[in-house]
This record gives sequence, structure tokens and C-alpha cells, in this order.
Amino acid sequence: MSADFKRYAGKEIDVLFAAELCAHSGTCVRGLPRVFDVRRRPWVLADAESAERIAELVDRCPSGALRYERKEVE
Ligand code: SF4
Repeated sequence: MSADFKRYAGKEIDVLFAAELCAHSGTCVRGLPRVFDVRRRPWVLADAESAERIAELVDRCPSGALRYERKEVE
């Protein structure tokens, strides 16, 4: 069964999240609270930090619930 990822689009990076895979470690909300805030809708703002920092954080998600896609920026 493949997970259902929801896309949160930004200018330089899109963040994708599959709630069913999330292990609720809190790594994302503690690491980049301006990007990941579960009290806000949408809870992910892909432009709230640099694409570099978001990519680094997503790579630390322990469950695979977060992914990212970088965009070509001219
Ligand atoms: S870092 Fe990944 S597993 Fe942890 S709360 Fe965020 S999305 Fe869920």
C-alpha cells in the first residue's frame, strides 16, 4: 500500500506529508517551528525558512512521513 502524500507548495521547495506514516516524534515542529505548526492551517509553510534548511529537516524525519521536492529557481 502506498502512502497518500499531501503537497504543501513553496516557491523553491514543496513539502509532502503523509499523515498515516507520521510517528509524532516532534522533530519537525521542534526543528523548524515557523514551517511546521500543528496549530495552524495549513500546518506546513514551505516558504517560512530557506529551502536548504527545510530539506535538511525533512531528511531527519524518522518515519518517512515527510518528503520534499526542490524546484528549479532562476
Ligand atoms: S518529523 Fe516526521 S515523524 Fe516526526 S512529527 Fe514530523 S512528520 Fe511526524
